[in-house]
Amino acid sequence: MTTTFNALVVREAEEGNPKSAAAAIEQLSDADLPTYGDSDVTVDIDYSSLNYKDGMALTGKGRIIRSFPMVPGIDFSGTVSASDSDRFAVGDEVILTGWAVGERYWGGYSQRQRVKSDWLVKRPSGLSSEQAMGIGTAGLTAMLCVLGLEDGGVQSGDGPIVVTGAAGGVGSTAVAILAHLGYEVTAVTGRPEQQDYLRGLGASSFLTRAEMSEEPKPLESETWAGAVDTVGSTMLAKVLAQTKHSGVVTACGLAGGVDLPTTVMPFILRNVRLQGIDSVMAPIEARDAAWARLATDLPADQLAAMTEVVPMSEIIEQGPKIMAGQVRGRVVVDPN
Ligand code: NDP
Repeated sequence: MTTTFNALVVREAEEGNPKSAAAAIEQLSDADLPTYGDSDVTVDIDYSSLNYKDGMALTGKGRIIRSFPMVPGIDFSGTVSASDSDRFAVGDEVILTGWAVGERYWGGYSQRQRVKSDWLVKRPSGLSSEQAMGIGTAGLTAMLCVLGLEDGGVQSGDGPIVVTGAAGGVGSTAVAILAHLGYEVTAVTGRPEQQDYLRGLGASSFLTRAEMSEEPKPLESETWAGAVDTVGSTMLAKVLAQTKHSGVVTACGLAGGVDLPTTVMPFILRNVRLQGIDSVMAPIEARDAAWARLATDLPADQLAAMTEVVPMSEIIEQGPKIMAGQVRGRVVVDPN
């Protein structure tokens, strides 16, 4: 076991002024790792990933980082190297997503991290560590959306499912899972040049971001049996207005805004269900179930097609890219 390791650390140049924060790779030792009450497990990290929230943290948007210095990275996969927990032993292969790691607690942009065992799940045997972060928080969230559709009774023969922000991380994963499960998938993208990529993941028809950003009428023609919405705002309102009777709309994102300019009409006249999806505080049982489904219902070739691996040294320049909607699919971060 090495005694020092590399981590990306965000520090404020001027204490108390988040605007002065800057990120740099530093060499740390175990003694530098914070302990949060019962942080009882140390993990040697294989991979982290880049999610929208990481982009916000890296660019200082939305006050994602709640204390400085901070090691960002809201997820990671790796191997337990020390443990005082009954649930995890040295050598266990684990995944962490959410729980405000990379926001309030030090996260995955590091070769090593110390965390609470309550935050970890065991990596399913069908997934490699790289695949686990190819999925990451975005893919887990996509699967939670799919499970939300299933829970609402949406079946593959009921009609098309619309996925918004389709070329992004959550969107790409949702498209691939839904198509694999036999659903007909319509992808909404602002990047027409990504249609071939999305067709390869299983989307069969397309709508532009502009078309789906037009202000909706309270009710429009019944089109969708279900939806995975990563965009929010007017696009989510449009999706709700176009959802069929008893359809289910899962809402997980805010890439287009945090507002929701809708009416009650889809709910009271069409029995539409709006299902919120939160991966950050999802209970362990829900995570285990979602990861088990990810190991079987996301084809490995599709996951590979949507994943790019970058060294940790490149992550600072990736932050603005994801905020500008320029990242396709998933970016895995290799700290080693
Ligand atoms: P990405 O940036 O990879 O994907 C977002 C996609 O949304 C973009 O690729 C783009 O797709 C589209 N988009 C970007 N900006 C706009 C805009 N202004 N208007 C309309 N569409 C836009 O991010 P992630 O996939 O990592 O995350 C997607 C969303 O889900 C984020 O809002 C994130 O915060 C949220 N999220 C929520 C989680 C939860 O637990 N609830 C967990 C993980 C993510 P295209 O080019 O195809 O149009």
